[in-house]
Amino acid sequence: MENYKRVILCKYGEVALKGVNKPKFEELMMKDLRERADRIGKFDIYSAQSTVYIEPQGEEDDIDAMLDEASHTFGFSALTLAAVAKKDIDDIIRVVKDYTVPTLPAGSSFRADAKRADKTFPMKSPNIAAKVGEAILEASPTLRVDLHTPDNYVMVEIRERGAYIHSTQIKGAGGMPRNSNGRGILLLSGGIDSPVAGYLMMKRGVGLEAVHFESFPYTSEAAREKVLSLAKILTSWCGTLKVHIISVTHIQEELRRHTSEDYFTILLRRFMMRLSLRVQKYAGSDCLITGESLGQVASQTMQAIGVTDEISDVPVFRPLIGLDKEDIVKISRAIGAFETSILPYEDCCTVFTPSHPKTRPSLPNVTAQEQRVDVDALTEEAWATHEIVTVTRD
Ligand code: ATP
Ligand code: MG
Repeated sequence: MENYKRVILCKYGEVALKGVNKPKFEELMMKDLRERADRIGKFDIYSAQSTVYIEPQGEEDDIDAMLDEASHTFGFSALTLAAVAKKDIDDIIRVVKDYTVPTLPAGSSFRADAKRADKTFPMKSPNIAAKVGEAILEASPTLRVDLHTPDNYVMVEIRERGAYIHSTQIKGAGGMPRNSNGRGILLLSGGIDSPVAGYLMMKRGVGLEAVHFESFPYTSEAAREKVLSLAKILTSWCGTLKVHIISVTHIQEELRRHTSEDYFTILLRRFMMRLSLRVQKYAGSDCLITGESLGQVASQTMQAIGVTDEISDVPVFRPLIGLDKEDIVKISRAIGAFETSILPYEDCCTVFTPSHPKTRPSLPNVTAQEQRVDVDALTEEAWATHEIVTVTRD
């Protein structure tokens, strides 16, 4: 057992720049961290000087698991695992030797720095840094000092509650605190794009619920399971995700029977919009979110998007609009969704896909086609199939 305590220091990202509203954002970040900590053990979580401290209260509490949780908490730009020494130079050196030296690879270079937030500490920062540097060299003679391009930094921060010693930082989740920027309904298919769109909006602080359209028996139970698995991946960031599931089977059959084939996709997308708005009103949220990217497929041309948007009385956000598929795949892999997204299950959009969809639909032509079916009755009937599945992390 180590004879020092380890704590996590979480540094603010954009929130550091906030003025009078800063405490409101801090509160949301702490709430998120506390919910996560409750899953793992007992931690004391508090903020001071644009940093949140996470201190384990018991011996058994798993700080590495907590570090992983903190790395999924939006609002923090960087995290460090620090060892805590007493505010006493001998104790600082003892902890540097015990904790830091074993983490520095043989033959590598380092630079020691010190920061004194507590000015009552009797030594000045450069003297602390020099002492620490000497102690490291003495403990491990293969290491060398490099002030300009060191392989590692060793930092000693003298703060209110102790001296914190850390070397490597890991990247935080960035973005804005969870639930700090309104609420949205994500149109979640089983593809690559929509989970990424949901992730990017969550990262900006949007609280999510999702809607998924299925077309049983043309789509299978496995396709639904895949969507729920994708929702579960998103819960690493958002905790819980409600997925509203609505059947569009009869809408699709009616469209196929009564409208021209080349309008099928755009007409279906307008129905999805109407039903998503129902969900948005039902959930009391503020916007819709889709995974569309300009020009990716026929239904994602500017004209098609315009004709789809015409239905909506709330903003429709498309965070992938300017991203290439390659960029989207990169994010999909980074959030761990890609392998699930490429499982080969059919989506309702691929059932009855026309061979020559209209790429430049005009609104009058689209509404003329729509008059061939009973839009209100079909919407109502689909809404009656509405189910809610609440996806949690466990
Ligand atoms: P994705 O990879 O997200 O499936 P895509 O490239 O396959 O997107 P489309 O099938 O045209 O593109 O769908 C565009 C967007 O419409 C999706 O990103 C998603 O937001 C929404 N969408 C498509 N199908 C469904 C569905 N079955 N349920 C809910 N939303 C859907
Ligand atoms: Mg799709």
